[in-house]
Amino acid sequence: MSKSLKQITLRVQSPEGTKRINIDPTDTVCSLFEKVYEEFQLNSFGFSLFKQRNHKDELISNKSKSVSACGLGHGDMLYLAPVNGTLLWNTPTTSTADSNPVPMDVTPSTSKGLPSTSTSAASIPVTVRPVTTTEIDDVDEQLWKMDGKIQRKRDEKLCKHGANGCCVHCSSLEPFDENYLKEQNVKHLSFHSYLRKLTAGVDRGKFLQLEDISCRIKRGCKDHPPWPRGICSKCQPNAITLNRQPYRHIDNVVFENASLVERFLNYWRSTGHQRLGYLYGRYEIHADVPLGIRAVVSAIYEPPQESTRDSINLLPDEREPLVQELAQKLNLRRVGWIFTDLIADDIKKGTVKHVRNIESHFLSAQECIMAGHYQNQHPNPCRFSPSGIFGSKFATVCVTGDDKNQVHMEGYQVSNQCMALVRDNCLVPTKDAPELGYVRESSDKQYVPDVYYKIHSADTWATSELRKYT
Ligand SMILES: [Zn+2]
Ligand SMILES: [Zn+2]
Repeated sequence: MSKSLKQITLRVQSPEGTKRINIDPTDTVCSLFEKVYEEFQLNSFGFSLFKQRNHKDELISNKSKSVSACGLGHGDMLYLAPVNGTLLWNTPTTSTADSNPVPMDVTPSTSKGLPSTSTSAASIPVTVRPVTTTEIDDVDEQLWKMDGKIQRKRDEKLCKHGANGCCVHCSSLEPFDENYLKEQNVKHLSFHSYLRKLTAGVDRGKFLQLEDISCRIKRGCKDHPPWPRGICSKCQPNAITLNRQPYRHIDNVVFENASLVERFLNYWRSTGHQRLGYLYGRYEIHADVPLGIRAVVSAIYEPPQESTRDSINLLPDEREPLVQELAQKLNLRRVGWIFTDLIADDIKKGTVKHVRNIESHFLSAQECIMAGHYQNQHPNPCRFSPSGIFGSKFATVCVTGDDKNQVHMEGYQVSNQCMALVRDNCLVPTKDAPELGYVRESSDKQYVPDVYYKIHSADTWATSELRKYT
């Protein structure tokens, strides 16, 4: 019995013409969608099929329902239309197809808190470009070549051997040695120590792959029409459980000289208004932590901005390309951003209010989102990542009052989880509770994975506290 005898022909009308589809009436509707996709050589499953010309009676893709069960018979006409303006033809698919085409705009906002971004600013396209090893940062190359072992001296009490001997009490330690880090009060592994830990196993990290988390549906799944019409285990992004990140990409921020910061603070001193700046400098080895990295700041650039006592709005900056060019010529790069959150307490004594602490928050959700946004803009080249990038070395420095009401600086990075949530536009700030972020719900336009957490979120993300500058 030849299969073709049973086949029926359906006609599918599209803006690009009509085509015939031969299909077995017992085939599933899902396979009909696949045949249409192939026959029309579409580049996306972002299309709908309707039984009526006026786009009524939509055919819903289904993996168990057959074509005949939908009432389709030989010679019937179907009407194809793109979903939400999807370009179905002649769009080159490149590696940038994953990026959101919405241009990045840090827009003025009147909401309380700092710094202000509009919620749309969270949907920032990230340039995901593969990097070759030549693009790995110098500091990473240097650290990669280092042995990284923590050398120990002969222990006067415990070592029973002579000066040239070696025993369990004095042999060198791995850079990720838990007891040593605990003794030294190092809360986070440096990223390179973390890499050594991952590559210390029997396979020497041969199969190690570090991939940035994605909160998006994988593209090109052919098992069903696209979201919101379908999703499957192959294309659905994993649920995220917010965890403290055991490592950090940089371990310290230092300023080349104190006058850099003093000058930056003058704006607040003379106006009482907050201020934001970009940190220009370089990354180098930070010897205080095994295989650590620090950002050394040589200059602060204050972009055009409008600010009040409790908000900062960034304005478009025409000079930005010039600043970048200048920085490049000086061999400097943007290594972080700095902002003030200072409220005078006693003007005579020069003290400031202590507002950020364990009772309130260290970084507000909006600041975490901003930090995530900047980190996404400055990805970290990494040899263990298939895309060539993983995480970021971009630092966030907040100038605020400490528990002794003195002006001090705190450095942070948000976790790679937070970066992913920001990049994929899953996270928005809340209006009334600065310490809380809000995870969007899935909609027709966007699938948002489930996000679980144990303690409140801003804290979880901001635990990559860097040592403060003194
Ligand atoms: Zn010994
Ligand atoms: Zn799928």
